[in-house]
Amino acid sequence: MREVVVISGKGGTGKTSLTGAFAHLASNKIVCDLDVDAPDLHLLLRPQAGRTEEFFSGHVAQIDNRQCTGCGLCASMCRYDAVRVDGNTYSIDPLRCEGCRVCVAFCPAGAVLFPEKHCGHWHISSTRFGRLVHARLFPGEANSGRLVSVLKQQARQLAKSEGKELILSDGAPGIGCPVISSLSGADLAVAVTEPTPSGRHDLERVAELCGHFRIRLGVIINKFDLNPEGADGIEEFCRSKGHEVIARLAHDQIVTKAMVAGLVVTELPETDFTREVRKTWARIEELAARGKKS
Ligand code: SF4
Ligand code: SF4
Repeated sequence: MREVVVISGKGGTGKTSLTGAFAHLASNKIVCDLDVDAPDLHLLLRPQAGRTEEFFSGHVAQIDNRQCTGCGLCASMCRYDAVRVDGNTYSIDPLRCEGCRVCVAFCPAGAVLFPEKHCGHWHISSTRFGRLVHARLFPGEANSGRLVSVLKQQARQLAKSEGKELILSDGAPGIGCPVISSLSGADLAVAVTEPTPSGRHDLERVAELCGHFRIRLGVIINKFDLNPEGADGIEEFCRSKGHEVIARLAHDQIVTKAMVAGLVVTELPETDFTREVRKTWARIEELAARGKKS
């Protein structure tokens, strides 16, 4: 089984639109949306509800008012100003509580409970392109590195039980904990970039990350025609570092047209652009077939 993760240094490069098209083109696969802080692959794939599970991560303090003596120690010790006082009644503001456990440790009455925090849900759904493993965090929750690991684990189990040969993931953007979790165990990272100074800068950072974890990296320069010189510079950078430039894709209104129609671009009648996207996917499959970097 192969794992391909589509990433980008930042949002807005066309990563999800292309992942949606690849989900259409790939066969015998599980699709996984690891961009859990801002998931939007479901907007293109329109999943039908399947299995849903609660996701818990970290802890949040809660005061049991039957035990609380109203001494006020927790309020004076909380560095995050999360303890609320209403007359003699103490409570915790869950949006401010950082789960540091100080109030639990020091409450003389043992009145502070410390349950796991319910942060959102993860799902295994059906789509017109097969199964999708994805999640939705509650507003304000961003504990996503662990959730990414949960989704990857579920996708692997599902792929194994259903005999799938590929896990295609829409990875988290950036270079932080979620993208590192996204990349763990991947055979191939596909970075979607654009020929702007920030696109180049972000690509260099994700390339460094992939180099550090010895993950094979292929690069798609999206909207290359908006700045051909910038695209040449990116290509030169990739060559110098041994990363393959998989494709240079032109800016094309067909991407927006597909999005408005709630489709992926390769579902529309064939054009030069969709032909290029198909070729791009074929090249990704070839690279992924080489397996992990030794
Ligand atoms: S420290 Fe414990 S007993 Fe004192 S106010 Fe806080 S919860 Fe109540
Ligand atoms: S767990 Fe920490 S942050 Fe939360 S209320 Fe207690 S002292 Fe404050």
